[in-house]
Amino acid sequence: MNKKQTPVRYCRFSVDGRSYSGQVRDNSVDIVEGDPFTGMSLMRLSYPVDRVKFLPPIMPKKIWCVGRNYVEHAKELNHEVPKEPLIFMKSTSAIIGSGDFIRIPDWAGVIHHEGELAVVIGKGGKNISEANALDHVLGYSIINDVTARELQKNDGQWTRGKSFDTFAPFGPVILLVKEMPQDAELKTIVNGKVTQHGTFSQMIFPVPRVISHISRFATLEPGDVIATGTPSGVGPIKVGDVVEVEIEGIGKLKNICAE
Ligand code: ZN
Repeated sequence: MNKKQTPVRYCRFSVDGRSYSGQVRDNSVDIVEGDPFTGMSLMRLSYPVDRVKFLPPIMPKKIWCVGRNYVEHAKELNHEVPKEPLIFMKSTSAIIGSGDFIRIPDWAGVIHHEGELAVVIGKGGKNISEANALDHVLGYSIINDVTARELQKNDGQWTRGKSFDTFAPFGPVILLVKEMPQDAELKTIVNGKVTQHGTFSQMIFPVPRVISHISRFATLEPGDVIATGTPSGVGPIKVGDVVEVEIEGIGKLKNICAE
């Protein structure tokens, strides 16, 4: 393969009532047959990007999450910086695609956005070393780890506050690369205003450490998603807000908050 080729941006999308796998190129989406796990071939049919509805690029069995993985975010919520990765889970039933509504319940208190880099596992494994960790990566996507902050705090356990239906916007594409540039930027934008801004070099525990850490206690499986933590600047979202999480090289995950 030509090494200078730009990496594939794999997606799932629907158009005219049917759904397809695809790859996004500039302003078009090409239909592909197969998937990134088993191999893909181009089908010579494409749609303009603004005609398609993006679906979650895969449906993982599990969403692993890292809490407080950026120093400034730990500080803004008055927490110590953890000594090893702090792992929790988010229900897969919370997953929605780019363009879907985040449903904000009127009884759940303050709801926050958390824009994050999502690692998609390609090859599963147990006891993966940090040195080999990136061999297990299929690619990278974007996740908004939407959180009912007061419930998270009051429950002690985080499951409820993190797992409301629609609280895991995911996509629009998986960038099929083993490693993201450390200086790639992540931005969360609410109603056109940048609220979060960070680079992956600011992570306390970088991706290889997180993969290795999880695989010491649980078998990672192909398609597992790891939300790698959020930079500082988390804040409330409410009905009517437009929330976008943008990562350089991957794209933009856009959702509107509704009742
Ligand atoms: Zn998070």
